[in-house]
Amino acid sequence: PSRSEITYFGAGPALLPTDVLETAAQALLDYNGTGLGIAEHSHRSELATNIINEAKADLATYLDIPSADYEVIFMQAGGTGEFAASVYNLVGAWVARQHAALLQANPGGDEATIVASLRQKVESDLKLDYIVTGSWSLKAYQEAIRLVGPEYVNLVVDARTANDGKFGKIPDQSTWKLSKDAALVYYCDNETVDGVEFPEFPAVLAPKADGTGPIVVADMSSNILSRRIPVTNYSLLFFGAQKNLGSTGVTVAVLKKSFLPPTTVQPSAPLLRKLGLPIPPIILQYEIIAKNNSLYNTLSILDVYIAGQVLKKLLKTYPDKVDGQQAVSAKKAELIYGALEAHPEAYKIVPDKSVRSRMNICFRITKNGTIDESEKAFLKEATSIGLTGLKGHRSVGGIRASNYNSIPLEGAEKLAQFINTFAKT
Ligand code: PLP
Repeated sequence: PSRSEITYFGAGPALLPTDVLETAAQALLDYNGTGLGIAEHSHRSELATNIINEAKADLATYLDIPSADYEVIFMQAGGTGEFAASVYNLVGAWVARQHAALLQANPGGDEATIVASLRQKVESDLKLDYIVTGSWSLKAYQEAIRLVGPEYVNLVVDARTANDGKFGKIPDQSTWKLSKDAALVYYCDNETVDGVEFPEFPAVLAPKADGTGPIVVADMSSNILSRRIPVTNYSLLFFGAQKNLGSTGVTVAVLKKSFLPPTTVQPSAPLLRKLGLPIPPIILQYEIIAKNNSLYNTLSILDVYIAGQVLKKLLKTYPDKVDGQQAVSAKKAELIYGALEAHPEAYKIVPDKSVRSRMNICFRITKNGTIDESEKAFLKEATSIGLTGLKGHRSVGGIRASNYNSIPLEGAEKLAQFINTFAKT
């Protein structure tokens, strides 16, 4: 089929706006009449710096990120790389804070004694908190255990325990077991595989009136740019580009500047070694990437350019920025869930209604014969009318309609209509 004949509901990499791809295709051949394509220009050139700075500024405008307090950096290790980067950097920041406090309490104290006290402090107090509500936060939790060891990692909640061993609900926040002064509290805002999305910022993690509160880290890989987020509640949020932002190849971290020098300096490798803590690869150290405006090493400027074009399109389409997209995202999700709910004899929506994702709509088909046969028939018929990419993640099966920003309203309407017709036939 031709591009215009299909609506692609794949979970990522996701559909990109055709006009953005056309602009990028031209830029790939010849960027702005320079005779060189965007992927050939040096990442050290002025034009590359301009592309980075514009994309950062447009992201900040669209999401209302206060640039005085937050740094936006482009990285390359994907969401998975950020599972590790968040551990390294925020454990480093925690150690740096304890170290500074010990130095202040013991002016002139000898280094060996300070390091011994620091080591004791690490062993007794270091905790990383993980809220596990689906496959991706589970992976991040497992990565933290692998990097620092299980003794330092606290499972705040495992959502499966409240739902027959499966993801699909978020247990009441009053049951969450948060540590005191954790180096970070981690959660995934939208679980791409399981179709579970936090309906709003978890109230129990909100900052107190005096501005203090937990150090919150969120993975927003699959719902960023689709709704307003309370940016200042986060110390770090990150997302791969390949769902709502652009093409695979860049990952964005939005980091509170108080975690960067001169406020916090990451502990040196020898100190971490003495403390028995892991040493971050330099490419995952936020302060290094931030100091170099994301150009510590070679960055894919093509991918930053595509992300920048998507942001420009969003800003042009929605004068009220992310709020405009939020309304459209809600409408599209309502259409699809509405069609599914209208036929309870045929469809079973996987997650609980309270945490249904607007981005990844997961359901099973129970009509006629086995689930397996019904789902195969659904996928086949959908594909025949140009609705593609609907197969659920291989780990959970079923159907998953990824309803990212690039799915037009008409695409969601077409899917809702098909859901109706399929149930009736
Ligand atoms: N986090 C979420 C919510 C995701 O959906 C994904 C990938 O689909 C990842 C993390 C992992 O991202 P990557 O493949 O870029 O490492």
